[in-house]
Amino acid sequence: ALTIGIVGLPNVGKSTLFNALTRASVLAANYPFATIEPNVGVVPLPDERLNKLAAVFGSERIVPATVSFVDIAGIVKGASEGEGLGNQFLANIREADAICLVTRAFADPDVVHVDGRVDALADVETIITELVLADVQTLEKAIPRLEKEVRGKKTDAAVLDVAQRALALLLTGETIDAHRAEFDAEILRPFGLMTAKPFIYAVNTDEAGLADKDFQATVRRQLAPADVIFLDAKFESELVELEPEDAAEMLTDSGQDEAGLDQLARVGFHTLGLQTYLTAGPKEARAWTIRQGWTAPQAAGVIHTDFQKGFIKAEVIGFEDLVAAGSVAAARAAGRARVEGKDYVMADGDVVEFRFNV
Ligand code: GDP
Repeated sequence: ALTIGIVGLPNVGKSTLFNALTRASVLAANYPFATIEPNVGVVPLPDERLNKLAAVFGSERIVPATVSFVDIAGIVKGASEGEGLGNQFLANIREADAICLVTRAFADPDVVHVDGRVDALADVETIITELVLADVQTLEKAIPRLEKEVRGKKTDAAVLDVAQRALALLLTGETIDAHRAEFDAEILRPFGLMTAKPFIYAVNTDEAGLADKDFQATVRRQLAPADVIFLDAKFESELVELEPEDAAEMLTDSGQDEAGLDQLARVGFHTLGLQTYLTAGPKEARAWTIRQGWTAPQAAGVIHTDFQKGFIKAEVIGFEDLVAAGSVAAARAAGRARVEGKDYVMADGDVVEFRFNV
């Protein structure tokens, strides 16, 4: 499964957030290097549509898609030099498919900040600088070898060109992610650059920060085009301990429309380049995870490889059409059920039944 690595300076609330994500009860310790072991937390992707589908089909249970988070211990300045836990962090970050960078914007005199001040954007800069430096090192090592290979006609000149342009960009302090469109993803991927991964920013803030739209707009502007989520990790960790009804009430009382963890799962899922399609029946209403752009047979293969091999066709009803019609039969009668072949590219919210040979 694709994973999102949670990174950030020590004491910004990563473990608090991660514990909330997994509802695990690992103690969040109030000092740097509290979280050394990388752990994986798998959270459900919130999807209101499943409840509605289950109602239409009378499904016994709901099976949501999931998003996997890996808790990667805090990076410190100097990580790219291999100081302290640096190399292990970098190795763990390399394995993640996207990066969730947690920054601190909550004021709490009892929680020490490693750099002695609370400044979410400065936190981002500290970490990005380390990741950029690590990528610079990677490319500075690779380029002389590539130059040789290009001279010997063993490597395409386009590969060297990408490496050189990536290096020039990184030397200005910017991430590859922010300039994704300028690079051929296929050529770039084998370099394993960390700043070429998609980034999400999770700003761990407090009640005041959640209410401060100007602050949020400023941070968003600085970090665009990446997605930014504002949440209160401590609040989130309390929320997950409650029964759903009580949690919903507490959330409403706090003036938020959606729990921070739900936002994180939703945005993270999208950032990973994933989407879902839906199936439903009396047993279960279910969301299946596919990559954006996948065709019907590829999507069928997620349920079972035989579905892909023996794919004949898919009967597809848009979620809204199905709910409006009230049943599959009614949707069919209204001409809302489409039969799609092997070249059909799946759309988010397709409710599907596959036909296949066994
Ligand atoms: P990590 O080192 O980034 O994993 O940070 P932790 O999650 O261990 O948090 C460090 C300290 O900050 C702990 O004492 C947490 O209880 C506290 N903390 C985390 N998130 C928040 C928050 O949103 N508000 C406040 N006031 N404290 C927090």
